Amino acid sequence: PTMVNSHDSSSQGETVGIVGAGLVGCLAALAFAKKGYSVTLFELRSDPRTVKDRSQKNLRSINLAISNRGIRAMKYVDEEITDRVLEYIVPMKGRMIHDLTGTKQESQLYGLYGECINSIDRGFLNECLLNELDMQENVRVLFDHKLIRLNDITTEVKPSMVFLDSKQHNEFKTFKFDYIVGADGAHSQFRYQMSRFSRLNYSQNYVDMQYLELYIPPNEDPEAVSRFHINPNHLHIWPRHNYMLIALANKDGSFTSTFFSPWSVIESLKTSEEFLTFFQENFPDAYDLIGEEALATAYEKNPRGSLMQVSAYPYHSPNGRAILIGDAAHSMVPFYGQGMNCGFEDVRVLMELIEETEDIQAAFIKYSDVRKKDLDAICKLALENFYEMSTKVTSIGYLIKKNLDYT
Ligand code: FAD
Repeated sequence: PTMVNSHDSSSQGETVGIVGAGLVGCLAALAFAKKGYSVTLFELRSDPRTVKDRSQKNLRSINLAISNRGIRAMKYVDEEITDRVLEYIVPMKGRMIHDLTGTKQESQLYGLYGECINSIDRGFLNECLLNELDMQENVRVLFDHKLIRLNDITTEVKPSMVFLDSKQHNEFKTFKFDYIVGADGAHSQFRYQMSRFSRLNYSQNYVDMQYLELYIPPNEDPEAVSRFHINPNHLHIWPRHNYMLIALANKDGSFTSTFFSPWSVIESLKTSEEFLTFFQENFPDAYDLIGEEALATAYEKNPRGSLMQVSAYPYHSPNGRAILIGDAAHSMVPFYGQGMNCGFEDVRVLMELIEETEDIQAAFIKYSDVRKKDLDAICKLALENFYEMSTKVTSIGYLIKKNLDYT
């Protein structure tokens, strides 16, 4: 690899470089652009809109729940795009608990006044945000750029970032900005670089839990009243104590389902036949909905994801020119459905501080203190919510009894 000349990316206004074009980085880029900054967004991967094969997109979950927290942040950044996105959500007004016999379902509403969380396609949301960024004159998005190093985050000199451009013969390229933002996810290089060059502390803890993504196809029967086999307006849960299955509806009538279990449970199932038997005993109705063949294929081919919690502090660099947001700052287990929602909230809180202080460096520094307590609290709630979803929702004794046989 060769080192090319430094690219000074400054235009008329102040410049912001953002690393990671995931959900949070994209929303942050839009937010800074709307405030008049000249924004460059860097992404390690290729443009997802050019990748046809879903498995190549490396998406962590097909759909996710967007709550009022996330919607409020999106609205703060751009009302119009929020309205467009909201047309594609499937509202979930409660949980639907599936019993062990596969014959009974119990609806538990989230609120008395129709309060909902909403299922949204992750890829669709990401692509909506990228399309919106394409329409902004003061934004450029550079795909195939991998962050390698941060420079000058402790002195008054403007920070720079070194990237490896995989489309340009793996050249190293250096870019200088007034402000830089790390939104490069749970395994953040930005965070690592901050911890190397400033006294940023962080911890990462794997929880003993794996997830396997499954798929419930739509009802293809032309005579069917609905394309959904089960009620789309609920988050479906098959609570079985130390493991569980969930399913969230997609707009096309399908459901994305996720099986969570300790690693020892999935690893004790040595063949697809054993997995099928386990699944049929524990989730008989889901077994029929997903189908035997699809289940066996998922067991053999689908990746098993690991889950971890990340905690970092402070989120800003000593010179107040670099900041860490989204999963890079606070990756959490998905049981509270708040990871992306909190990342979106990071953007809103940061933008409000910039407005309030009228000084971006002061805002970055203040952000750490303003945000830390809330993020710690939600990470804790996320961890605790596994117990809520997998056990507390089943007040019915027979569910517990039968399950204890497995634990
Ligand atoms: P990411 O989505 O990880 O994006 C980071 C981006 O940075 C990626 O595109 C990556 O390619 C890029 N990148 C990484 N390294 C570099 C580098 N060195 N240089 C350049 N680019 C780089 N959250 C919810 O709110 N609701 C839910 O229902 C929900 N369900 C979930 C279910 C599962 C199974 C999982 C695993 C997570 C779930 N989450 C949910 C959490 C949510 O997925 C994350 O919080 C969210 O994706 C974080 O977004 P992000 O942009 O911070 O990070």
